[in-house]
Amino acid sequence: RADAAMYRAKHTGRNRVCFYSHQIEKVLSRQVALEDDLRAAFKQEEFFLYYQPIVDSDTGEVYATEALCRWKNPKTGEMVPPATFIPVLENIGLISDVGKYILEAACKQMTEWEVQGKELHMSINISARQVADNSFIDSVATTLSNHNLSGTRFIFEITESLLLTNTDQCISVLRKLRSMGIRIAIDDFGCGYSSLSYLKKFPFDVLKIDKQFVQELDSSQQDVIFVKAILDMAKALSLKTVAEGVENEKQARILQNLGCDTLQGFYFSAAESGQQIRARMGHTNNILRFPA
Ligand code: C2E
Ligand code: MG
Ligand code: MG
Ligand code: MG
Repeated sequence: RADAAMYRAKHTGRNRVCFYSHQIEKVLSRQVALEDDLRAAFKQEEFFLYYQPIVDSDTGEVYATEALCRWKNPKTGEMVPPATFIPVLENIGLISDVGKYILEAACKQMTEWEVQGKELHMSINISARQVADNSFIDSVATTLSNHNLSGTRFIFEITESLLLTNTDQCISVLRKLRSMGIRIAIDDFGCGYSSLSYLKKFPFDVLKIDKQFVQELDSSQQDVIFVKAILDMAKALSLKTVAEGVENEKQARILQNLGCDTLQGFYFSAAESGQQIRARMGHTNNILRFPA
């Protein structure tokens, strides 16, 4: 975008050049400030996790939670969405370190819940850059064994085009994770870079249907057809299925009828602190809502 602005600027005279370069400078300095804030955030351990339940579509019972990273900018007091800060962490080379911190935090939470009598699976988002990091496998193995947690308790969720730039290395890492019992999910399926060619190339265990296909399920017959096709294909490939972005009962019921294994979305619960999630599960014996 900066290039385009420069180009336009050059072709529309001097005043514009000043205007555009001023704009570019502002954007760049904001970007640099965010990078500095995120480096500090890592050092100060400001990142924390919220957890969103994933429920069995037949019983409504919580099967797992997805760990979702949160960061509140201490300067503004505002929560910054992960869609904003995760890509920056990737660009400044911090995602592997933050990823280790996230896995560690998730393990601590699982142990805490376990002590309180709740043994859940944990779904964790993994950046493709982590997969490309040589120390990734060893670090995962060490963390799980330090916490005495079996790999079978974890699902690692992956998206992104980056996987395709180093296909063989990625496949080998995913295989090693699976040999530890960790299941691999393709996240945001049907959307952007998360496509059929991925299903063909990589060893997945779980398919997460992107919320884009779920949100109009209750009003669009065409979306029902798409979701049915995705679920049928997943079943034929022996993949477990998750639908994300389930916001109402009608969507939940359609997904249940179409045979989607598990459901996730605001209808059941938003992502909340470990304590909040634990409290609500305690009141309801792990069942947040009956989907139908
Ligand atoms: P995602 O992995 O696809 O996570 C699902 C996102 O959908 C979350 O947004 C969640 O809060 C939101 N969501 C859940 N239910 C509903 C619903 O019913 N309706 C709507 N409209 N949204 C719903 P969030 O937490 O903002 O995360 C955005 C993305 O940031 C994630 O998408 C994931 O790609 C990335 N991300 C989050 N945490 C981490 C992390 O720890 N590591 C990495 N590498 N990426 C992360
Ligand atoms: Mg995810
Ligand atoms: Mg994602
Ligand atoms: Mg997703």
